[in-house]
Amino acid sequence: MAVKVNNAAMQIFVMIAGILLSTLSGWFLYDAEEKAIISEFQKDIDERAASLSREIEINIEALYTIATLFSQDNIPDFHTFTIQARKTLSRHKDIQALEWVPRVPHAQRQTFETALRKDFVDFEFTERKAQGHMAVAQQRPEYFPVYYVEPLIGNEAAFGFDLASSDTRRETLEKSRDSATARATASITLVQENNSSKAFLAFLPLYKGQPSTLAKRKQNLQGFILGVYRIADIFASSTLNDELLGLEIDVVDDTQPNNIDLLHSHSSSTGFTVDKNIIYKKALPEILGRKWSLIGSPTQSYISVRRSVLPLFVVGAGIIFTLFITAYIRSITKRANLVQRIVIEKTNELNEANKRLKKLSRIDGLTGIANRRFMDEFLDREWLRAIRQESSVSFLLIDIDFFKAYNDNYGHLAGDECLRKVGACLKQQVNRAVDMVARYGGEEFAFVLLDTHDVKLIADRCLKSIEALNIKHEFSQVEAVITISIGYCSIVPQKGSDPSSLIAAADEALYKAKERGRNNALVNLTANLPQDFSI
Ligand code: GH3
Ligand code: MG
Ligand code: MG
Repeated sequence: MAVKVNNAAMQIFVMIAGILLSTLSGWFLYDAEEKAIISEFQKDIDERAASLSREIEINIEALYTIATLFSQDNIPDFHTFTIQARKTLSRHKDIQALEWVPRVPHAQRQTFETALRKDFVDFEFTERKAQGHMAVAQQRPEYFPVYYVEPLIGNEAAFGFDLASSDTRRETLEKSRDSATARATASITLVQENNSSKAFLAFLPLYKGQPSTLAKRKQNLQGFILGVYRIADIFASSTLNDELLGLEIDVVDDTQPNNIDLLHSHSSSTGFTVDKNIIYKKALPEILGRKWSLIGSPTQSYISVRRSVLPLFVVGAGIIFTLFITAYIRSITKRANLVQRIVIEKTNELNEANKRLKKLSRIDGLTGIANRRFMDEFLDREWLRAIRQESSVSFLLIDIDFFKAYNDNYGHLAGDECLRKVGACLKQQVNRAVDMVARYGGEEFAFVLLDTHDVKLIADRCLKSIEALNIKHEFSQVEAVITISIGYCSIVPQKGSDPSSLIAAADEALYKAKERGRNNALVNLTANLPQDFSI
């Protein structure tokens, strides 16, 4: 029973362990896969940041190309600027406009405005009012008007616009002027745009000569080459769109960490929800004094197309394997239990059979009394005990007279019946538990009597009892009934002797009893008997 309980416990243990192990393996695989996907996603964002940065640099280069027109303090006319700018723009599709923004002290405002009115009748310096509409620029110590602009079409609103009227723009202009380096503005909404898409302006300061002090720079500043860049356009040009499938990317300006400005937001067109639990930020190298970063998140589709069925497969296969093993254990356990039961049953049967066999091997099949083998064993054992105790052992050999004739005349079955009766009768002549009565072989019987003083009495009683059975035997030459002859001997066995001498002595006496005429008992006195032994 205990074995069965343990087997059931083992099956449950194997099942739980198997399912646990499969689930864990699946989970580890899933986790490893997720980590690989996240790292791929981060690599995508890194590459995206590098390519955006490169794209911006390429576009900024255009400013320097235009600047070559202004070498040796020469200010080109509108026409020359336009031709060069047009050429440059044809190579840089993402630049919204290229402009020349001169520094105009108030005293020269009139001159500047008049000069352009030859070609553009309504030209004047303008500014944007708080209410949103454009108006004539109010008086300032100096102006930074958009003086040349290419292309003019689409940028009319910017033409004449005084950049000094806008705080964001003026601040950057001044930084650029003071540092003598190209500078970009924070994101702005262009005066020529009605929608909210963001842009930035990049200024390249130009001076008379090469001033190295701040005062000289302020004094010698001629103006700025200005590039207008729409962030969405640059972003779009910086990568192939299909690379971005499944990613959501925000371009932010975090030059001022407490005032992060969202420049552009790229949303995946796949329509899947974005996994905002995974966010990765990549800073771009500083561009014209500004710090930009990309903040990306993958969509569910970006993750799902990169996932494999392997973790699921491992869990499934693991569970199936576990169930298979459990079923297998169950079946072999069942079989083992069955075999165990059969073995127990068979062992019991065998034990029973052995017991029966042992009993049988001690008993004579015909007469039901002890057989020769059992008697021999008994005699050997008791012989040794008698040596130790110096007590006597008596052996009686009994033979049926003229039994061959009985058999021959009455038949074998009658002979058997006669043997049975004689055996039973002889057995009744002794009553101590230690007295041994056995069939010695054929029609011979034997008695082994221990420490017995009246052996002759017993022998005579046997003769009388058998005769008294009155088994008819017309062919006996002694009596008309079955009789027996007995030869016997008693001995106190000596150390080192064995029972064969006692048997031989009894046999010798039997032979003589036969000779003497049968139906009598004869003792062999040659044996070593105790003093008080009466026979
Ligand atoms: P004696 O008086 O000299 O002993 O003569 P006997 O005929 O008894 O002796 P003998 O040894 O010539 O014959 C013994 C016979 O006992 C031979 C055999 O037919 C018979 N016999 C021995 N064993 C069995 C048995 O198991 N069943 C039967 N029916 N007869 C047996
Ligand atoms: Mg005989
Ligand atoms: Mg005989």
